Amino acid sequence: MEINTDKMGCCAEKPVIRIYSGEKLCKNHFNEYFENKVFRTIRQFDLLDKEENIGVALSGGKDSLTVLSILNRLSKQNPKIKLIAIAIDEGIAGYRDKTLVVAKEFCDKNKIELHIFSYKEEFGLTLDEMLRILNVKPCTICGIFRRYLLNKKSRELKLTKLATGHNLDDECQSIMMNQMRNDLMASARLGPKVGLISNKLFVQRVKPLYLCTEKEVTTYAFLNGLLDDFNECPNAVHSFRAQVRDTLNELENEFPGTKYSIVNSFLQTLPFLKEKFKDGEIKICKSCGEPAANEICNACVYIEKLKNKVAPQL
Ligand code: SF4
Ligand code: ZN
Repeated sequence: MEINTDKMGCCAEKPVIRIYSGEKLCKNHFNEYFENKVFRTIRQFDLLDKEENIGVALSGGKDSLTVLSILNRLSKQNPKIKLIAIAIDEGIAGYRDKTLVVAKEFCDKNKIELHIFSYKEEFGLTLDEMLRILNVKPCTICGIFRRYLLNKKSRELKLTKLATGHNLDDECQSIMMNQMRNDLMASARLGPKVGLISNKLFVQRVKPLYLCTEKEVTTYAFLNGLLDDFNECPNAVHSFRAQVRDTLNELENEFPGTKYSIVNSFLQTLPFLKEKFKDGEIKICKSCGEPAANEICNACVYIEKLKNKVAPQL
């Protein structure tokens, strides 16, 4: 992260960051710029209604803490916006236990109701245990189970929306990954507001940090004391996403504005993608009753594979 220390900035105060436009901002002006950008994103993409029972998917990392902190402030100003946090404990030793401590401390301090659901309780095994049994990419199986649980639990908790900490860098990586996999149907499910409102089994997901870069979110989180340490999942380094992230960062360094350009041009094509793939039928999983693209949902497919390998444990 680039922290500037020279005195040439927005005002007489010491600049802390050079933003996308090249302008250097001090802490107060950066906070104002960042929060305004989040509120503008919420308005521009119509992410929140006047009345909401919103959940924040909280990992205890910089992105989700930032969303939770800003939406918490919003809910304090507006009693019609009710807010809770949901955390998923995948069971990743040495990582998730630490970030969950941060998540709990933040919620305790700010009096936010926190619900924690674990893979162990819901599926019988931690992610670490699953990975010792199945030869799969960690993020593939982890993502399937996390999306499954977040949607199911959000619905059971009667949430009207679920806010996630996805930022501009995350979206940019997803767009490029889908392009490289020739999976435009997956791209049709991206954007600042996702999930079918026409299907009662889905809770809409919204991304208030959609237009904020990773660098901006990191700066905001650290400057405002939302966390004081940086934890990264040990499985992240092996992922396709990590390789795409590094490539995009190199391109951004050489050609500033690359990430904004990718996301902005994607937003222009998104309505066409949504139209093209709107007829994809949503089925009900015959095994668990959750929404699925096929007869059996992906989570149940993996649960079945795990059962077949370790029947006595499940
Ligand atoms: Fe799960 Fe991969 Fe994220 Fe780790 S990096 S929490 S394995 S999706
Ligand atoms: Zn299922």
